[in-house]
Amino acid sequence: MKAFILSIGDELALGQTIDTNSAWMSQQLASIGCDVAGHMTVSDDKIAIRDAMTYLVGLCDVLIVSGGIGPTDDDLTRFALADAMGVELYLDEGWAKEVEGFFTRIGRVMPKQNQVQAMMPVGATSIFNTCGTAAGIRAKLKGKDVFVTPGVPKEMKAMFDRDIKPFVKTFAGGAAIVSSTLHTFGQGESTIAEKLGDLMNRSRNPSVGTTVSGGIVSLRVNSRFESVERATEELRKTEQQCEALLGDLIFGKEDQTLPMAIASLLTQGREKPLTVATAESCTGGLIAKMLTDLSGSSSYYMGGFVTYSNKSKYERLGVNMEMLNVYGAVSEQVVLQMARSARRLMSTTYGISVSGVAGPTGGSPTKPVGTVCIGLAYLEPGGGKTEDHVFSMARTFQLPGDRDMIRDRSAKMALTLLRFHLMQKPTPFQ
Ligand code: ATP
Ligand code: MG
Repeated sequence: MKAFILSIGDELALGQTIDTNSAWMSQQLASIGCDVAGHMTVSDDKIAIRDAMTYLVGLCDVLIVSGGIGPTDDDLTRFALADAMGVELYLDEGWAKEVEGFFTRIGRVMPKQNQVQAMMPVGATSIFNTCGTAAGIRAKLKGKDVFVTPGVPKEMKAMFDRDIKPFVKTFAGGAAIVSSTLHTFGQGESTIAEKLGDLMNRSRNPSVGTTVSGGIVSLRVNSRFESVERATEELRKTEQQCEALLGDLIFGKEDQTLPMAIASLLTQGREKPLTVATAESCTGGLIAKMLTDLSGSSSYYMGGFVTYSNKSKYERLGVNMEMLNVYGAVSEQVVLQMARSARRLMSTTYGISVSGVAGPTGGSPTKPVGTVCIGLAYLEPGGGKTEDHVFSMARTFQLPGDRDMIRDRSAKMALTLLRFHLMQKPTPFQ
């Protein structure tokens, strides 16, 4: 069974209110095996609502509409539906009494305007509203089932659970859609798609699709089968296939973030957590922010330095002035010193550092905007005590985007270098 969701309201069309109803309904429908062909939002305009309904029933088996059934002049959904069906409205006496009773109970006389909430297109029936005065509407349009619910999220949800879900469940044949999300960082969407190959075939079930947000490429796996058990089993198999093809590029699942992945590598299975210190220039403390987004991070993140000027790199981290002058602040030589100093000053296992040209100014032909150097210093726990025992490495990246994007990707790249070092794996990029 295929559904389409239509939301009605000026505030939604104008972007003043986010359409959370449609997202919620989609998730509910998916969980009971009903495919959702799409969402549409229309303003409080009778003709537009009528035309949208007429068009959308051609794309689905069931159309679910939310909003526009209140008592005011801008509530036009019932009139639009009657027009689309080519019928008049009638008064549903039963619901009219419910509405009157509601007002009596709160000690008021029903305003005449509220009677419209009991008006139904001929051929349609009302759906009981357990927490409001607007009845829902159930109708047939061009042979397809149409449900109309109030826009108020609480009322919509109650009506959906009580009346719409059981209907869809019966006709969706008890099938189930089970989903999961895997997150990667370090390679672009097209590279990931190339690695996944046939797994991304549009007709495959479970299906695999990619989305990108903040440089993180996420794989969304949807598994549609006759039962939740089978759908879950097939989902796991496809996840394993994705993992086999992408390996350590995957840092987490569902709500897991990059800092969480690092937290578990630093702490899990260890009596004493490994520890980290940071030295940041162009990211201005963003790595520290990301690491401390997690509560409990004080057990492994000791602190850091924001050394934005050359002077502070010299004074606080002891970066060699001559080196700053000869190689420049954005250089592997400088980030190596920054990482080593942060680690030494904080007595941590790791020091990580970033220095880059975030732009829009400050670029040069040899170091254009987006040039970012990342350093990492590591002293094995229980290893030697002198600086000679410290391992260090630096990498230079050319990152795309504006200032915000370059800073964000620099911080994530630094965390990714740390992650791969913790896993004792070579980084899969550059
Ligand atoms: P009724 O609920 O009486 O049928 P309506 O939904 O058009 O009519 P409104 O007064 O326009 O009533 O909306 C009620 C509240 O519900 C408003 O705060 C509105 O922003 C919110 N709302 C309506 N539709 C949605 C939606 N799709 N997603 C999230 N909130 C919504
Ligand atoms: Mg409205």
